[in-house]
Amino acid sequence: MTDPNCLFCKIAGDEIEADVVYQNDDIVAFRDINPQASTHVLVIPRRHIATLNDLQDEDAKTVGSLFLAARDIAAREGIAADGFRTVMNCNAAAGQTVFHIHLHVLGGRNLDWPPG
Ligand code: 5GP
Ligand code: ZN
Repeated sequence: MTDPNCLFCKIAGDEIEADVVYQNDDIVAFRDINPQASTHVLVIPRRHIATLNDLQDEDAKTVGSLFLAARDIAAREGIAADGFRTVMNCNAAAGQTVFHIHLHVLGGRNLDWPPG
């Protein structure tokens, strides 16, 4: 359920401080410590899931909750109409550095496509 060595489990468990912008029973959203846009929020499940490859069918509701939170955060941050990006990196080649899944919510500037 939680991994005692996981940074994001510690944030979800209030052991490490973060600028939390949204939370409910299943998920927590907080500002990225090294923001890549004026809005850069990470939305995580409270439950420890290391990568997208480790998702189980029963996680479907949790994953839905990540996106519903992203929708609400974008609206609150005032980036919904102009546009924003959600990204979940999976494993090293995609740039995943924290192995507890997190949905990046980025907005407030024009975002290039394709990403690097
Ligand atoms: P990844 O590269 O795994 O897709 O994204 C990990 C993200 O977590 C990075 O954007 C990084 O800046 C962010 N991050 C790493 N450590 C911390 C931390 O202690 N607090 C917060 N708020 N964000 C962090
Ligand atoms: Zn974790």
